[in-house]
Amino acid sequence: MRWLFALALLVRLPLLAGSAADMARAIRENTFDSDECYRVRDLTLIKEDIRIYLTDGYLIFSKPVADRPIAAVFFADNEGGDGEVMLLPPDRAERRSLATYIDSPNLDEHFRGAVFLFTGDVYDALKKQLPENPANKKLPELGVLLDEKWTSALRSLGAGYQTRLTLDLLGWPASRPGMLAAFFQGNKLGNFDVVFDPSSPEQILVGQLTTRDNRLYFDTWTSFAARSSRLHPAPRMPELLLRDYRIQAVVNGDLSLNAVTRVKVTPRAGGTPVVPFEIAPEMTVTEATVDGRPAEVLQSDALRVNLMRGGNNLFLVVPPEPLREGVEYEFEFHHSGNVIHDAGDRVFYVSARGFWYPMFGQQFASYDLLFRYPHDLDLVTPGGVVEDRTEGDWRTTRRRTASPIRMAAFNLGNYEHARLERAGYTVDVCANRALERVLQPRPQTILTSPTAGMQRRRLPDLIEAPAATEPSPQTRLEVLASEVASALEYMAGKFGPPALPQLTVSPIPGAFGQGFPGLIYLSTLAYLKSLPTARSPATLQTELFFEDVLQAHEVAHQWWGNRVTPATYRDGWLMEALANYSALLYLEKRKGAHSVELMLNSYRTDLLAKSAGGQTVDSTGPIVLGPRLESSQEPRAWRSIIYGKGSWIIQMLRRRMGDERFFSLLHELMTRYGGKEISTEGFRELAAQFLPPKSDDPKLEAFFEQWVYGTGIPNLKLAWSIKGKAPSLRLVGTLTQSDAGEDSSVIAPVEIQVARGRTVTQWVRSATDPVTFTVALTQPPLKVALDPHQAVLRR
Ligand SMILES: [Zn+2]
Repeated sequence: MRWLFALALLVRLPLLAGSAADMARAIRENTFDSDECYRVRDLTLIKEDIRIYLTDGYLIFSKPVADRPIAAVFFADNEGGDGEVMLLPPDRAERRSLATYIDSPNLDEHFRGAVFLFTGDVYDALKKQLPENPANKKLPELGVLLDEKWTSALRSLGAGYQTRLTLDLLGWPASRPGMLAAFFQGNKLGNFDVVFDPSSPEQILVGQLTTRDNRLYFDTWTSFAARSSRLHPAPRMPELLLRDYRIQAVVNGDLSLNAVTRVKVTPRAGGTPVVPFEIAPEMTVTEATVDGRPAEVLQSDALRVNLMRGGNNLFLVVPPEPLREGVEYEFEFHHSGNVIHDAGDRVFYVSARGFWYPMFGQQFASYDLLFRYPHDLDLVTPGGVVEDRTEGDWRTTRRRTASPIRMAAFNLGNYEHARLERAGYTVDVCANRALERVLQPRPQTILTSPTAGMQRRRLPDLIEAPAATEPSPQTRLEVLASEVASALEYMAGKFGPPALPQLTVSPIPGAFGQGFPGLIYLSTLAYLKSLPTARSPATLQTELFFEDVLQAHEVAHQWWGNRVTPATYRDGWLMEALANYSALLYLEKRKGAHSVELMLNSYRTDLLAKSAGGQTVDSTGPIVLGPRLESSQEPRAWRSIIYGKGSWIIQMLRRRMGDERFFSLLHELMTRYGGKEISTEGFRELAAQFLPPKSDDPKLEAFFEQWVYGTGIPNLKLAWSIKGKAPSLRLVGTLTQSDAGEDSSVIAPVEIQVARGRTVTQWVRSATDPVTFTVALTQPPLKVALDPHQAVLRR
């Protein structure tokens, strides 16, 4: 046995001898091997749900990297040449998603060219089939031609995947099967990608890199867990546990950032030869050590993968020796880059894309943050100040978080402050002393695009800019501070303690905001007072949004998103919906129910707006698609659906429950899921427990099917008449539904007011055909109204 073990070590040695950098270089400088060029017929490549048929054409493998080829090209130039790729998403929602992009619920596309990048058994699986058909034969002379034609594609795609491929080739984690990234030149669909990546919770992804209005999108046509993990779902646990971040950073005069990040890392599995982390592409990791010993770092740009990963780049750390299971290691990273941007006139901001320090997932960890920066600036981070001093031209601020948080953001500027204490919480609102240049001449609409993150990440909140503003950022400072404090106090009263006892609000140019734990980025537009111009409903809504909803929404993220966190990207909508609805609750408290009605009406208008194709924005896709809704098809859809429809979903649940039960639900959500992840299904199950007894749809399955997993906003019409004689009257009503999808069914209240006694509320479920219902009455009704209090999102 010892002998075998020694042999195994010897076999592995050449693999480990080459550095990660050498491996990555070999991938991006790879060429084809003309000795491995074949005329092929009827080869099949199956990866779980993906079936690829190389029916008739040529196949050439790349030169080996770490012992074996990692790429191949299939090319069907000859007459009758053909390849075909097939895939059927496993559930209705994904088939629907695919259909919105390719007009078919399943993928069945013929192609004449394809590049494959792979690790694991793909090479062997294809090679093994060659002797099975006498038509298959070696064609080295063609290999030279193919090499010329395809090398640049091979290299550019390889460069995009070099880090990911190297991660596999170095063996992390050891038990995982290899990956396959296939890039097709489809006969009908154009270029598209089919990826099988076992490191992703949804291993199969099909999509297309595309542009619209000069913006690059990665449209995810479909994404789902591969067959084997559907059959045997693995518990979702991070492979590495991270805790205790200590970051020391210097902001230089030119705004570049140099940082040393230390964090304790524990691998869950042993023998880990390489560890992946994520960081924003603007940051370069120059050096890393593990327990004080130098480790190799591999970092590279990868736009395509970056678009799929939510704005972060993968980078690898190769420790001097494999990490052991359950042992805690101290990782130290040196990283630098330009994440701070200058908007002019001493207005600065931190880029919202990606993480500015190395992360592995978004895990709750404590933070000790020390910043050294030019003395005439203010730098804000989460946590309580433990040190703050100025020496010469430099200021040093150190903060520590009282409890673990999911990520630490920072911001800096030449700030004026308004500090308040309310209910035991500290609020510090910072305003720029000057106005960023873009706002000065004339207010304009600035839409800062968020990142289409496929990973478990919250997107920044994108908003519309108001039409007219008065340029003075300090005008609203005191008001804003008191509003933020009031919102915080209100929400703490309803939901319990926020993520941290200190909350700093700092400005960010552009029309978006983001609520990090203990630190909010608030659009500079929120600091400006709107001019009292003619009040059309649209301006009124805009004013309401900027004066009341925006900051309250970001404050609410201290709970929704930073204490309760989403399990996957499909559950992220819930954080936005709850944060926005919490802001509406606060608005209701301050300005009355009518203001909330206005906001809900404007969300409805946005959802019913027509796309270029004539469909409603709402029909772009169900809310659970989250960041996938931000596609080239209808870029507006993401915002309208996540915020607008999300708010409506919570509103409808509130109306079904009644206020008392609804507020108990919010409180229970925080009690049960604070510091934990929640899934959409977990939310449904909990919400169902707060329905009044004997409710229709007691598990809320039909409700979620309609509003959360489906699309469609119905038009409802009520007709009624009174039959019989008092005191035994019957109200006979008919509820007619139109303009909704085939399977649409909603439950709507019919309120019947009578002269004496309580208003009767009858909930009626609509269907494709008109529904008739009867209510017994003792006296004739004064008024019969269908859904008078916005209990249903309808046209
Ligand atoms: Zn938000």
